[in-house]
Amino acid sequence: SNSTSSSLATDNTTNDARFKGHDMLAPFTAGWQTTDVNPLVIDKSEGSYVYDINGKKYLDSLAGLWCTALGGNEPRLVEAATAQLNKLPFYHSFWNRTTKPSLDLAKDLLETFTARKMAKAFFVNSGSEANDTQVKLVWYYNNALGRPNKKKFIARAKSYHGSTLIAASLSGLPALHQKFDLPAPFVLHTDCPHYWRFHLPGCYLYGPVGNNSLDICYKEYILSMLMNISGETEEEFSTRLAKNLEELILKEGPDTIAAFIAEPVMGAGGVIPPPATYFEKIQAVVKKYDILFIADEVICAFGRLGTMYGCDKYGIKPDLVSLAKALSSAYLPIGAVLVSPEVSEVIHSQSNKLGSFSHGFTYSGHPVSCAVAIEALKIYKERNIVEKVANISPRFQDGVKAFADSPIVGEIRGTGLILGTEFTDNKSPNDPFPPEWGIGAYFGAQCEKHGMLVRVAGDNIMMSPPFIISPEEVDELISIYGKALKGTEERVKELKSQ
Ligand code: PMP
Repeated sequence: SNSTSSSLATDNTTNDARFKGHDMLAPFTAGWQTTDVNPLVIDKSEGSYVYDINGKKYLDSLAGLWCTALGGNEPRLVEAATAQLNKLPFYHSFWNRTTKPSLDLAKDLLETFTARKMAKAFFVNSGSEANDTQVKLVWYYNNALGRPNKKKFIARAKSYHGSTLIAASLSGLPALHQKFDLPAPFVLHTDCPHYWRFHLPGCYLYGPVGNNSLDICYKEYILSMLMNISGETEEEFSTRLAKNLEELILKEGPDTIAAFIAEPVMGAGGVIPPPATYFEKIQAVVKKYDILFIADEVICAFGRLGTMYGCDKYGIKPDLVSLAKALSSAYLPIGAVLVSPEVSEVIHSQSNKLGSFSHGFTYSGHPVSCAVAIEALKIYKERNIVEKVANISPRFQDGVKAFADSPIVGEIRGTGLILGTEFTDNKSPNDPFPPEWGIGAYFGAQCEKHGMLVRVAGDNIMMSPPFIISPEEVDELISIYGKALKGTEERVKELKSQ
């Protein structure tokens, strides 16, 4: 059967056999997994921990899916939801009817964003809906301005923007496109800003999606090593990426490019913080051609990077912002789009001509989700959560990065409370382990055995613990990581000797 199924199953002793072959068509899950492997059934959460249905405790190093910022049992969020459920479980926000919680949340939320002034908040239920909304907003905006051809979007290789049709198209991950007839034709992809992987000569061709010419890369790479070429500095790398972006814009025609979308730190693509001066240079290009900048802050917002927003950390002045996840600490589904005064003014001024802004969801501004989000924002403020993350970040980052010397670790990268590990051979970006070895999956299974859940994507491991993680819990995380790494090093030795 599937090559990684055996390695996943190896340590699958604790998961629950009763639910094998269950009835869900499960998201981001392979069919063989549900039939061959016992699912991990999570039943309860408490602070930074979750418990499976058999009572086994796990440190939740990914905070659910990068989202349960306040951990597993924050009573104030439960109380906020309960109070709102008892008062008004639902009313919508169409046709200028709305509810108090959605009005209050819009006000509170706009106040939290200070990288530049934002004028309006549009509520959705997820990050994907936020990004789909961005595309419709931008098209509506350009139609209102009489620029019907300015409609294309530029996103980046390895980005993740969600899994609805348009959000998956924006994403730069081949698995989200293959077999789904995506990306949509109006979406273009530019380079992934991953310095370690792409700064050496010969690594360039890995950049754009669908342009991986491995042989040429490898030859050029070996040559550069032999000739002792050190490659670009981070600044030079950023300059080249900005130049490539400009070339793409000029090739397509600037009057056809509507917007550029980027995560401040790439998340699901493998946790990739931007190289020095990257956003400064990219923003200059985008601005030059009157292209809107969309910051996808779905993972980075509310303190994850040790700043309130990723935009604060990297000096990004976006026209539009996508939010979800920690907005409600994931206790209920809610997301939002923040709109600049300039964009919202165009939309507003056209309303006599174009009529209503005919976009929205039954659950846009759901009062119970809004009540929870209002409380979450209040808690972030009261507990100085941004400062808390900034303070605990070095313990987490330095603690895990101390393992960077391991012979099976290519790179460990991250900032604030987000961190990625990439396993490669010979410390080289161009020497992946054979996929059939399932090294990442093996590490993940080792963590699970020792009581910690991590995100595995191929040989990339990702962690983004809850903002409330304690110093002792960080130490526990590092200790389990170390044990899993040791086990995985032994596994690699064993596989190499076979
Ligand atoms: N954007 C980013 C940066 C994300 O990380 C995600 C989800 N991981 C999304 C958008 C999509 O969010 P959702 O799963 O809520 O649709």
